[in-house]
Amino acid sequence: MASASPTFCSCNLPVVMKETGPSHSTPGRRFQACQRGKKGPPYNGCGYFKWQDEAPTPAVASVAGQGWPSTLEAVFAAMCEESRRTNQLLEQWLQKQ
Ligand SMILES: [Zn+2]
Repeated sequence: MASASPTFCSCNLPVVMKETGPSHSTPGRRFQACQRGKKGPPYNGCGYFKWQDEAPTPAVASVAGQGWPSTLEAVFAAMCEESRRTNQLLEQWLQKQ
């Protein structure tokens, strides 16, 4: 496999390499994304998204249910779900104290 060959998203455009910003929960992680961005206006991209470095955490992967989520929306949804579950567990734990 030639790693130099570009990956194309559903828009038939070469994907771009990006890095998560400092406000992200895991800053500095590299990912490939659609150069247009998210689906729908104003970006009109395809929402293509793929981490470039490490494997997904088991928690996020299990929340997604079907392995590693393939779109940025799915990643955010999984992170929200994960956070909600963590809050529920924390509340339950606090009630037992
Ligand atoms: Zn695209």
